[in-house]
Amino acid sequence: MKKRILVKFSGEALAGKDGFGIDTQILKYIANEIKELISNGIEVAIVVGGGNIIRGVTAAEDGIISRTSGDYMGMLATVINGVAIQEALEHIGMDARLQLAIDMQEIGESFIVRRARRHLEKGRVVVFAGGTGNPYYTTDSAATLRASEINADMVIKATKVDGIYDKDPKKFDNAVKLDTITYDQALSDHIKVMDDTSIAQAKDNQMPIVVCNMFQSGNLMAIINGDRSLCSIVE
Ligand code: UDP
Repeated sequence: MKKRILVKFSGEALAGKDGFGIDTQILKYIANEIKELISNGIEVAIVVGGGNIIRGVTAAEDGIISRTSGDYMGMLATVINGVAIQEALEHIGMDARLQLAIDMQEIGESFIVRRARRHLEKGRVVVFAGGTGNPYYTTDSAATLRASEINADMVIKATKVDGIYDKDPKKFDNAVKLDTITYDQALSDHIKVMDDTSIAQAKDNQMPIVVCNMFQSGNLMAIINGDRSLCSIVE
């Protein structure tokens, strides 16, 4: 059976060293990693974050901007990133479609799940931006939500770390990477790499979450082929 995956990129993953803005060389790298998946017959959807531009909580910190407006600003940030990813994919000759949770017809299609599934069947990469379209959520929740809606086999959370550890590997030399972890364990440990709402949603829908380092070329393909040494799976 054909594999369908959803890859979640945080906004920070797209940024250069200072953590802000968009580094086009990273976009190019990401596009090539996705191309390898498509060339191997994998159907790929992407959810992108916006933390490299603005986050609602931070925008609302001093009370001048309300949390709701700050969150809409964050959702707009994800749209900026979505446009960039779509461009990078098209730049290397791939078909991509940007679908938005908030209507902006001049920029992308409205989110329509049936249309998204059809794009995927045709080998197009679907880039979901705008989060869930609702304040007080995150793009991690958008990732598990969209993955369930399109019947993906798994969510891959593409990060800069190679998995989930039993303790902080930066502080403890003897920290051990966990190959698998249950949803309940991930919730009780409040693993930082994915927020609790999205894990609870993944649990309800039996959607596996794979945490991996996407800055090692070839990792995504290897993980889809079953190499668990390169990732941790919440299932
Ligand atoms: N956001 C939101 N609803 C959503 C998704 C995102 O309000 O469904 C807002 C929220 O303010 C969030 C910002 O958009 O801080 C950027 O998303 P996120 O923090 O998830 O991005 P990431 O950390 O993945 O870069």
